[in-house]
Amino acid sequence: MQSEFRYLSYPQEVIFAPGVLARLSEAVDRSGWQRLLLCTSHSLQANGQVDSLKSALGGRLVGMFDRVQPHVQDMQVDEVLALAVAHEIDAVIGMGGGSPIGMAKAVSYAFGTAFPAAQPSLPIIAIPTTYAGSEMTAVYGMTHTHETPPRKVTVNDPKIAPKLVIYDPGLTLALPPPLTASTGINALAHCIEALYSVTRHPLSTAAALSGIRHISGALFRCYQAGNNLEARTEMFIGSHLAGLSLASVSMGLHHGLCHVLGGTANVPHGIANSIILPHAIRFNADVTAPQLLPAAEALGISVNGISPMVAMDALAQKVFELIGRMNVPQRLRDAGVALKESDLPSLAQLAFQNRTVQNNPKPITEPAQIETLLRNAW
Ligand code: NAD
Repeated sequence: MQSEFRYLSYPQEVIFAPGVLARLSEAVDRSGWQRLLLCTSHSLQANGQVDSLKSALGGRLVGMFDRVQPHVQDMQVDEVLALAVAHEIDAVIGMGGGSPIGMAKAVSYAFGTAFPAAQPSLPIIAIPTTYAGSEMTAVYGMTHTHETPPRKVTVNDPKIAPKLVIYDPGLTLALPPPLTASTGINALAHCIEALYSVTRHPLSTAAALSGIRHISGALFRCYQAGNNLEARTEMFIGSHLAGLSLASVSMGLHHGLCHVLGGTANVPHGIANSIILPHAIRFNADVTAPQLLPAAEALGISVNGISPMVAMDALAQKVFELIGRMNVPQRLRDAGVALKESDLPSLAQLAFQNRTVQNNPKPITEPAQIETLLRNAW
């Protein structure tokens, strides 16, 4: 039991309802925003979701950047900031996965740095279409492309917590099975790391456990039948709870390592999460088993009569098998990027310097521990 805790929460309006995107203008008008800039990616143009947003917002949408690349690239942030200034916007929308929402946060932060007198700083509207959960947090990662190797750096600031979050489960019906699976595992990873976070508190624990129950009940069904609105709705509630649990606690080895694999080796975020999660669970098991036993139960493992370490092994195996059943790569060598086994020591070294990794509940005292994990995942 946590007998002492401290956390920040943010003023956010969260609206969750099938079809709510069509009523977005009501919420925007309540806040008095009149000139909006959209950050999104090509797939959302292609599947018609950008058109739905345009018709919901009418003349309020004054600009758009629809080329957001994964892992928020610093050069693109400069481009979007210039658009924001040129269009004299009063709010920025991130619609899509974690990357467009991260871009909206990065632009808001850059705007606040460029114009410190602007009050309030540029508010963010987040409209997620994957299960990454960024819409609920006050953090983004940005890849510094000029560094060798490129490095993803996170920025935390309460001002970049999205002010308005719109969950329309209909927007996820078109999410292809591989992205459904891998971003769904990302949501599961938020819950797992929130449960054993060194800064966990009663609310984060409750959100994480409830999130795991929803994800456990819905993720595979969404993967099998993407157009099942009931399953999509349950999964979106799960990813909302996962994002909520993530928002107020520090993450650990798993998330820090995934950032390094994404920013430096270009592994897609959901795939990095899927490959690393079973190994992170095993790595931490001797310290975190008491916190993860309810997670194992929520995923259908009977923990009665077995030792906590056996239960943790079963949990890691269950996650590994779920990933395999959804045809997501289970090994780093299959991640689909130009990563070599000989790169693992330098990635371990980078991860060792990562602040998030250093917040892991089980102390990490040398890069060799991370290198062993990476070799197990290779
Ligand atoms: P992403 O945003 O990079 O999107 C991956 C792909 O999914 C893109 O090609 C996109 O066009 C496509 N896509 C998204 N929604 C779609 C839909 N409905 N239909 C069809 N295609 C769709 O990937 P992601 O996994 O959602 O987000 C990963 C990024 O978010 C990483 O940069 C990660 O670091 C960040 N992230 C941040 C937080 C946070 O709290 N700040 C949390 C989780 C992830």
